[in-house]
Amino acid sequence: TDLAHIRNFSIVAHIDHGKSTLADRLIQLCGGLTQREMKEQVLDSMDIERERGITIKAQTVRLSYQAADGETYQLNLIDTPGHVDFAYEVNRSLAACEGSLLVVDASQGVEAQTLANVYQAIEVNHEIVPVLNKIDLPAAEPERVKEQIEDVIGLDASDAVEISAKSGLGIDKVLEAIVRRLPPPRGDREAPLKAMLVDSWYDPYLGVVVLVRVVDGVMKKGQKIKMMQAGASYTVDQVGIFRPKKENVKELSAGEIGFFTASIKEVADTAVGDTVTDEKRPCEKPLPGFKPAQPVVFCGLFPIDSSQFEDLREAIGKLRLNDASFHYEMETSAALGFGFRCGFLGLLHLEIVRERIEREFNIELITTAPSVIYHVYLTNGDMVEMHNPADMPDPVKIDRIEEPWIRATILVPDEYLGAVLKLCEDRRGIQQDLTYAGARAMVVYRLPLNEVVFDFYDRLKSITRGYASFDYQIENYEANDLVKMSILVNEEPVDALATVVHRARAESRGRAMCEKLKDLIPRHLFKIPVQAAIGGRVIARETIAAMRKDVTAKCYGGDVSRKRKLLEKQKEGKKKMRQFGRVEIPQEAFIAALKMD
Ligand code: GDP
Ligand code: MG
Repeated sequence: TDLAHIRNFSIVAHIDHGKSTLADRLIQLCGGLTQREMKEQVLDSMDIERERGITIKAQTVRLSYQAADGETYQLNLIDTPGHVDFAYEVNRSLAACEGSLLVVDASQGVEAQTLANVYQAIEVNHEIVPVLNKIDLPAAEPERVKEQIEDVIGLDASDAVEISAKSGLGIDKVLEAIVRRLPPPRGDREAPLKAMLVDSWYDPYLGVVVLVRVVDGVMKKGQKIKMMQAGASYTVDQVGIFRPKKENVKELSAGEIGFFTASIKEVADTAVGDTVTDEKRPCEKPLPGFKPAQPVVFCGLFPIDSSQFEDLREAIGKLRLNDASFHYEMETSAALGFGFRCGFLGLLHLEIVRERIEREFNIELITTAPSVIYHVYLTNGDMVEMHNPADMPDPVKIDRIEEPWIRATILVPDEYLGAVLKLCEDRRGIQQDLTYAGARAMVVYRLPLNEVVFDFYDRLKSITRGYASFDYQIENYEANDLVKMSILVNEEPVDALATVVHRARAESRGRAMCEKLKDLIPRHLFKIPVQAAIGGRVIARETIAAMRKDVTAKCYGGDVSRKRKLLEKQKEGKKKMRQFGRVEIPQEAFIAALKMD
C-alpha cells in the first residue's frame, strides 16, 4: 500500500476507560472476523488479562476501512500495555505509530494513567485525537471533561469525538478522524530495510513471532536479516499480519506493521526496540533510543511443597520463554528451601507472573517480600547491586547505601486528599506539587521505591475507596540511613523475613512485624520469642505463649472418627506450614508480616 493510504495508531487511556471495547468495535467494523468469531475483547488474549481487564502484551491488528472520500485505507492499530510497569514497551509501541486516540471516560475524567500515557504519546510527537467515551452514561459530562483535557493536558479538545464504545455510537466518526486527522507514515520503500522490533512472543507452532514496524525498505520471506543490537542473523520464514486472525502476506513495506518468524529460539534473543535490517544491504544507523528493559523489583518464589521445585523450575523457564523482561536465578533459603530469586519490571508484573505460575502450572508458592535494587558502596570503593536483604554485606565494610526514588503522581477526589498526604508522609515522601483539576487534587510526591513496592498501592486504594489513581517513574538513586532488620523466631534469624528499612523507622516497623507474627504463628508446646534486630541489637520483642493441650485431647477416648478428622485437618494445615528449627511458620506469615496498616 502507498504511504498516503496507511494510518498507524494506538489507543491510550486510563484503565477501564474503554480502550479494549473501542478496539473491539473497530475490529467489528473493519476487521476480518465474522460475527460468530467476534467475541468480546478479542485483543486481550490471555485469560488473566481478560479476568483482570488489563492488557499486558501489545497486540496489533490491521483494519481495512473505506472512508467517506471513497478511498480504502489500511489502518494499523497497535494496542499498548496500559500499566506503568511496562512503560518501555508502551514507549516502543507508540514509537511505531504516528498518532493516538486519547480515550477518556466522560463520566470519570482524566486520571493518572491518562496523563502518564498521553505524555508518552506527546513525547514521541503523536498527533492526538481526544475521544470521550461512555457518553451513554447519565453521569457523563463531556463538556466538563473537554475543559479538563485542555486545562490539565493542554490539548485542544474542541474537536473531541463523543462516543459510546458499548453501544457503537460515534465509531464512524472515530474512523473518519483517524483518516483525516492523523498523518500518514513517512518512509522510503527503496532504501535498505530498517524496521523496529515492537514486540515478540513465543508461539508453540511458529516459535518466536516478532512484531515489527517497517520504517524503510521491504521485508520478505527468504530474506537474510540482522538484529543490529543483538548482533544475530536469521532467515525470514514467514511475514504476515493480524486481522486479528493471522494472515500471511508477500511483504511488509515501509510504513507498514506486521510480524515475521525466522526460527528464532527464544524471546530473549529479540529485544524490544532493536533494529532489524537486511544482512547484505544494512541500513547505516540503527533506530534511536534503544534500551533493554531492566527489572526493578525482586522477590523470592518458593514452592510450598518442596517436592515441586523441579516443576517450578520448568514453569519459570516456560514463562521466561515469553517474557524476556522477567529474570530469575536459583536461590536457597534456610527458611524456605530451594526456590528462585526473580526480577520484575514492577509490582503488577510480579503479580501476573506469580498468578500464572499458580494457575497455569498448579504450583502453590510462597512469595517473599519484594525488594528494590540497592546500591551498596563499600569502604574499599566497590559498589554492589543488592536485591536481596539477606545478601547485605557486613555493616563495617559499608560506606553508604543508595536506594531508588520515584516521582509519583496521584489524582484523588478532594475529600480523600488528607489521607493520601498522610500515607505519602508516612512513607518518607516529599511533596513536590499540589494542584487541582476540577474537584480532584493532583499531588506529586518523591518517594523511596522501597516504601512503595510492598503495599502502597493497596493502601492507597483502601483509604480512597478506589477513587485515587496512581502512576510513577523511577527518578534517581540517593543515599540514606538504611539498615538490615532481621527477624528472629525462637532465637534464630529467619532469612526470608529480613528487610531493609530506614533506621528512623526500624523500631516501629520491627514492633509491628513482631506483633503480626505473634498472631500469625500458632502456639507450640513451648514458649516462642519473636524478635526484630539490627545487627546484634534487639529493637522489638513479643512472646508466643506455650500451648496447653494436645488438639485431640478433648476427644480422648471418645469418637474415633472425629479424632481422625481432626488429625487429618492438622495434617492439611501442616502442609501450609514451614518447619523452622522447632517452630512451624504458616506460609501466609511471610507476606502478612510485612503489611503495614
Ligand atoms: P480498558 O481497561 O480501557 O480496556 O476498558 P474496557 O474496554 O475493558 O472497558 C471497561 C468497562 O467499561 C467494561 O465493563 C466495559 O463494558 C465498559 N464500557 C466501555 N465502553 C463503554 C461505554 O461506552 N459505555 C458504558 N456504559 N460502558 C462502557
Ligand atoms: Mg483493556
